[in-house]
Amino acid sequence: MLKVTNLTKKYGNLYAVDDISFEISDGEIVGLLGPNGAGKSTTLNVITGYLAMDTGSVLVEDIDIYEKPIEAKKHIGFLPEIPPLYPDMTVWEYLTFIYELKGCDFNKMKHLNEVCEVVRIFDVRKKLIRTLSKGYKQRVGIAAAIVGNPKIVILDEPTVGLDPVQIIEVRNLIRNLGKKHTVILSSHLLSEVESVCDRVIVMNDGKIVADEKVSTIATAYTSVNSIKVKACGPRADVLATLKAIPRVSSVKETSERDGDAFTFIVESPSGVDVRKAIFTALAKKNYAIVGLENAGTELEEAFVKLINKK
Ligand code: ADP
Repeated sequence: MLKVTNLTKKYGNLYAVDDISFEISDGEIVGLLGPNGAGKSTTLNVITGYLAMDTGSVLVEDIDIYEKPIEAKKHIGFLPEIPPLYPDMTVWEYLTFIYELKGCDFNKMKHLNEVCEVVRIFDVRKKLIRTLSKGYKQRVGIAAAIVGNPKIVILDEPTVGLDPVQIIEVRNLIRNLGKKHTVILSSHLLSEVESVCDRVIVMNDGKIVADEKVSTIATAYTSVNSIKVKACGPRADVLATLKAIPRVSSVKETSERDGDAFTFIVESPSGVDVRKAIFTALAKKNYAIVGLENAGTELEEAFVKLINKK
C-alpha cells in the first residue's frame, strides 16, 4: 500500500507538486496522467525517495520514505523516464549488478531467470545493452525495476520514444506486471492509461484534478462517442450510408487509407453504441468493413475538460 499525504514540492517559487494526497491499494494499476509540466515526474521522484519533499508524507507499506528510506525503498521498483542503463554491460551483467545493489537475498540465478522470463528478455541476456533496440532497452529497465520482487512498481512514461509495435509489447508487459505487483505509471497519453490502467489520477499544475476509475472519467466528462470505421466501397455512398444510420450525429472522412478502404470517424451521443448498426448498414450494401474501433476521443475530451476545470 502507498499513502501520499499533503505532498508539496517546490522548485524556487514554483509549486511543481502542490499539496496532493492519494492512496493506492495492493494490486491496483494506476495511471498518473497529465500534460507535460503537470508534476508527474516530480511526484514519482519523491515517492521513490529520489527527491526530498518540502512538506507532506509518503508511506510505503506503512514505512515512512523520509524516516526510513532504505527500508521503504525495498518495496519499490522504479523505472525513471531515462533508465540508467550501462551500455557496455550485457543484460545479465547489468541485472546481476542491480541484484547486488539492491542487496537481494534470493537464489540469484533462479530469480534473475524469472525476471528475464517475465519481461521476455531471456533471449538477449548475453547481449551488450548498447546493441539492443529501444524497446528491448526499456524492457531491461523494467527488469531492473522488478529485481528483488518489490510490491510496488513505478514506471515514469514507460513507452516514450518507442515505435508502435514496441509500445504494444511494453503495455502488455505492464498489464502482466499488474498480476503480481501494484503498478503506478505516468503518462501524458490518454490511450495508454485507458488501455493499461484501472484507475487514473489526473494532475495539472501540480494539483490532482481527478482521481477515478478510467471508465467513470470517460462517461462523466464526455458528450460524444467516436468510432473509427475503415470500409471498402464507393467513397461517397459509404459516407452517405454511415450518415443515414439512426443516432449517428456526424461522420467525417479522414485522409487515412488502408489498402482500398477509406477511413471515417463516426460520432454518436455519449453512451450510444452504433457499432452494430454500422456493421448491418454496410453489410447490406456489401461494403466490407476492415476496421472498427473506438477512435479514443472520449477520454481526450474528458481530459481537456478536466485540466481546464478550475
Ligand atoms: P511532468 O512529469 O508532469 O512533465 P515535472 O514533474 O517534470 O512534470 O515538472 C513539474 C514542473 O516543475 C514543471 O513546471 C517543470 O518545469 C518544473 N521542474 C521540474 N524539474 C525541475 C528542476 N529540477 N528545477 C526547476 N524546475 C523543475
